Amino acid sequence: MTKQQNILIIGAGLCGSLLALRLGQRGYNVTVMEKRPDMRKVDISAGRSINLAFSDRGIKAMNLVGILDKVMPLCIPMKGRMLHDVEGNTVLAPYSGRENEYINSISRGGLNELLLTEAEKHDNVNIHFNKKCLSVDFEKTTALFKDYDTKKEFIEDADVIFATDGAGSALRKSYYLGKKFLFSFSQDWLSHGYKELSILPGENGSYKTFKNALHIWGREAFMLIALPNLDGSFTVTLFLSFDEGEYNFNNLTTKERVLEFFEKYFKDALELMPNLVEDFFENPTSPLGTVKCSPWHYKGNTLLMGDAAHAIVPFYGQGMNASFEDVTEFDKVLDEGHQDWETIFKTYEANRKKDTDAIADLAIDNFYEMKGHVNHPNFREKRNLEMAFEKDFPNEYSSKYSLVTFNENIGYRDAMLRGRAQDKAILNMLADGTLNINDDLKSNLEKVTIETENILEDDRIAGLK
Ligand code: FAD
Repeated sequence: MTKQQNILIIGAGLCGSLLALRLGQRGYNVTVMEKRPDMRKVDISAGRSINLAFSDRGIKAMNLVGILDKVMPLCIPMKGRMLHDVEGNTVLAPYSGRENEYINSISRGGLNELLLTEAEKHDNVNIHFNKKCLSVDFEKTTALFKDYDTKKEFIEDADVIFATDGAGSALRKSYYLGKKFLFSFSQDWLSHGYKELSILPGENGSYKTFKNALHIWGREAFMLIALPNLDGSFTVTLFLSFDEGEYNFNNLTTKERVLEFFEKYFKDALELMPNLVEDFFENPTSPLGTVKCSPWHYKGNTLLMGDAAHAIVPFYGQGMNASFEDVTEFDKVLDEGHQDWETIFKTYEANRKKDTDAIADLAIDNFYEMKGHVNHPNFREKRNLEMAFEKDFPNEYSSKYSLVTFNENIGYRDAMLRGRAQDKAILNMLADGTLNINDDLKSNLEKVTIETENILEDDRIAGLK
């Protein structure tokens, strides 16, 4: 397997441009085909979600390619969740009891542009825009493209093809439609969709509400969130059912209804959003879904990565981080020195799929947590206890959120199993009085640790590990 081999990457989004950069650094000949124009030259919307929560698994990948110093200036630290109740009262719930653990708000466009520029610094990486992949012949290792500039179709030949073309992947469709091998595929839609809105900057680029937090207006049946941008604005996202409940996307059809809805449930947000009605009717409403499939590869010819392999709902803020971690994990397998792509792809998928399945499930759990549980007294009590454990015993305890978000050296599946066991232990013991929040913290930690190990042992016996 020589480095002179021609690698084709379909899709120059977040995962594809990072993969191109890493394979370029490793010396492969890389061609990337992207359906959209070059976002550094043409003012195009970055697509869905203008800004994203960027955390330790993403940071690890940026370190791998040596560009973290260029990424950090694009970041705004978000130290916790700023919870807004219906009356407009707020409380800041930190993400971790350890001061140095927080997430960041980052511009999708800014980060994608940086990755493209860094990838193109390598002579052996060539990125072509306005080229849409129509299908992939995974047996011949060729892909059919439509060139939006010349309006012609062409076939690109490669030694190996990576598809990082997002949730609607052309390669995944070709696997499915090709019916040449057993390909499992599921796509589950959430009852809720989302719409992006905005809080514009205040005077001289000031922030109209607290800058360093992820704001949440959780209302059980729906929720609003806001993440800060560098220019003083916030990108606000409304998550709402398409057709259930008194207010839903299908029946919010007039200015009056939209204002009535926001007056009733998000009054303090509405005061910051004089532009609400324009945003609401100009911006699209989009669905949210989870994609799982297998296998990700066909022999040693083609491989799905990023959202193309495992699109998830956005409630853990991990889709991009997981897609970046794909590249880190793939790179680890390359380091093992296997002699053929098929072994590399098989090893990668065997290592990785359990983790991307886990984060998909955790993201669905977090949908319910963010909408409502964060407001419940027993959830808050559990969080307070966990914060205290993390603060006073930083090396002995990490909550589920911390394990997933700040513990880049354990896989999502292990984080999920341990995190769920801890949650169960604490909630059960708070309910039956075994744990009292006012008791000595050390003895409470001991009780939680023992009970967590018991639950993990039961899980093991039940075959969960
Ligand atoms: P994409 O970013 O979708 O990139 C795919 C690329 O392929 C695009 O450039 C596209 O133009 C191109 N392409 C598509 N089809 C073709 C084709 N046929 N031919 C050629 N090119 C093609 N993740 C987080 O980590 N944190 C968050 O806070 C977060 N928030 C989110 C909020 C929302 C509302 C949504 C929807 C997602 C969020 N995510 C978040 C998830 C994150 O956006 C994705 O996981 C991430 O973008 C995946 O990167 P990707 O490169 O695999 O796919």
